[in-house]
Amino acid sequence: MDENAACFLLENHALGGRGLTHKTQDGFGLHRSAIKNVIRTQTLASIEANLHYLVLVSIIMRTQEKSRQGRLNLDLSLHPPSHSPPQPVDNETSSHQQQEEEEEEEEETMEQPRQRRRRTRADTRRMEPPYPWSTDRRAVIHKLEYLQANNIVTIKGEVKCKKCERKYEMEYELMNKFYEITRFIESEKNSMHDRAPSCWANPILPNCNFCNKEKCVEPVIISQEEGDDDDQFSRINWLFLLLGKFLGCLKLKQLRYFCAQNNIHRTGAKNRLLYLVYLALCQQLQPSNIHFL
Ligand SMILES: [Zn+2]
Repeated sequence: MDENAACFLLENHALGGRGLTHKTQDGFGLHRSAIKNVIRTQTLASIEANLHYLVLVSIIMRTQEKSRQGRLNLDLSLHPPSHSPPQPVDNETSSHQQQEEEEEEEEETMEQPRQRRRRTRADTRRMEPPYPWSTDRRAVIHKLEYLQANNIVTIKGEVKCKKCERKYEMEYELMNKFYEITRFIESEKNSMHDRAPSCWANPILPNCNFCNKEKCVEPVIISQEEGDDDDQFSRINWLFLLLGKFLGCLKLKQLRYFCAQNNIHRTGAKNRLLYLVYLALCQQLQPSNIHFL
């Protein structure tokens, strides 16, 4: 069987789903290039030998796609068939992964034309610190000692009201807010199980100083004029977002950016990354506090 024949066979079995194939723009068909990628990773002989297996996989994947819509959970890997018994599925982890994948897809579909997923690595070039409390390293803020020694006691940030659309500056008193967060982490960390609690994941927004409407003021994370790419993420006002407990307003890719710049392993659900970002920022401020490890 040659490559074209293998393509033809696989295409006609119309494998749908993830991993083995990409979604085409018009649905769950196949990109020929995706099939060729599969073929490249295996010898033609093994594809031929495993054709029945691949057809079976296609059926399972389609079922999985349908069940995902129905919120059922079937775990599937693309290893050759084995006689060992199936591994139990961790429902919680799978649903978190699913949630994350869905978020990623949502972000990706907004990018036209479709781009490869970014693999951001720490950018070690020095930069002009965007705020007095920022260092010259991306997504790294100064320690408390430095801030206090330099009389940096209030932390400002830009916010916008969702009701009256007015933009203005808010400020937080550094030490008060930091100790409030520290006390919360010290008392709640054991019950967090390495995931952000709901008050971090769903920030309570402040009331507007101008129209007086409630819970409608959100931080301006990236100015619209600045675009939305990794380089603009270097201007995110991390300390302001921490003190206002606004970090939950960040998108998954912005949390990933922080983790990448700080060499933190960055796979997992959003509330896992959010937890890591909260603790890492507190640790940047106060490296000696063991509760932030
Ligand atoms: Zn307002």
